[in-house]
Amino acid sequence: MTFRWLLSAAALAASPALADDTHTAFRVFVADHGDAGITAFDLEGDGRWTFPTVGQAKLYPAANGAALVAVQSDDETVSFLNSGITLTSHGDHSDISVADPSAIDGTLTGPRPFHVVNHDGQTVINFDQGGYAAILPQSALATGKVEPTEFRQSRAHHGFVTPFDGVTLSTVASDATDGPRLGLQAFDAKGDPMGEVATCTGIHGEAFSGSFLAAGCNEGVLTVQESGDGPRFAMLPYPADFPEGKTGTLLGSTSIQMFLGNFGADGLVVIDPVDEPHFRHVKLPFRRVDFALDPARPGAAYILTEDGSLHRLNMLDARIEDSAKVTGPYSMEGHWNDARPRLAVAGGSILVTDPAKGAVQVVDAETLDVARAVEIGGQPYNIAVVGGSGLSH
Ligand code: ZN
Ligand code: ZN
Repeated sequence: MTFRWLLSAAALAASPALADDTHTAFRVFVADHGDAGITAFDLEGDGRWTFPTVGQAKLYPAANGAALVAVQSDDETVSFLNSGITLTSHGDHSDISVADPSAIDGTLTGPRPFHVVNHDGQTVINFDQGGYAAILPQSALATGKVEPTEFRQSRAHHGFVTPFDGVTLSTVASDATDGPRLGLQAFDAKGDPMGEVATCTGIHGEAFSGSFLAAGCNEGVLTVQESGDGPRFAMLPYPADFPEGKTGTLLGSTSIQMFLGNFGADGLVVIDPVDEPHFRHVKLPFRRVDFALDPARPGAAYILTEDGSLHRLNMLDARIEDSAKVTGPYSMEGHWNDARPRLAVAGGSILVTDPAKGAVQVVDAETLDVARAVEIGGQPYNIAVVGGSGLSH
């Protein structure tokens, strides 16, 4: 594997010679496992806010962190928040501005909203039982406006839609009742298909890294590469010497062109979309609860296992570097949506929701020590973080 680095060495250097007007702000949004809404708090400082939801929400940052999408799948509702933190790129630096978060006036309702994709300036929400996706321009969302257009799918299914390399990609399902998902297909601006369906049986778990989109399939990982001349599809089959399993949840690195996927209940797979070997398997000591990538440390990922241990994985050599207990045990027996921890990473801290304790554990990414617990109450579950460093001038 020779990974392609996506950031220059200068961009990776950790904020050299901090100017006086450099400001760092991370804001954490936590959704309750039940219907107790969303709590927002500042990682440094004492800002604290709450927002009502209709039901359990999964949270996604959008528009470069200026907005939050709160998907309430069981309640047919998607609501939106202004995060209050905007980062505007000026090329060699970003400007940061910080204000209070607020609810955005504009809620989408529809049959079973689920996956959210952010790509090419659009935020796309799939309505699994409606047979369509709502496409929202992030430029509008960043200013508190919800302006959806609709992409119709030929058949309703649990899938995703994304703009990609000048076309729209959509998952496609079989016409049979409860038939399987078949793969991914390109569509033109009028919604007409362009070419065949790229086979990816059971397609699930889309992610982006560099010029690639990757998604998990029963037979391997489907990669799609931007060419500037339309997407190029390739199937990477799972290696014959891998244990039984498949990936269905992928994360894409922003600093190195690579992906990390789940693989079976107690494994992970590091994926290089370009060079062989495309796959490296990582065996975990216990079943996996959640995993996240570190946007500030190239190649670093964190995995929480059901014994309550947090592990730091070096993806470049597919090796667990360090492990430490950060919560009590959370068994993976039971329903997938039972209240268990979820991870997010913010500026040197790993944030671990701890529903049994009603808190968010703030873990030092270097030492894996729990630095402090932020009391939330209820059952803190899904989590998202926005923010970063910039100049305020
Ligand atoms: Zn500036
Ligand atoms: Zn899904």
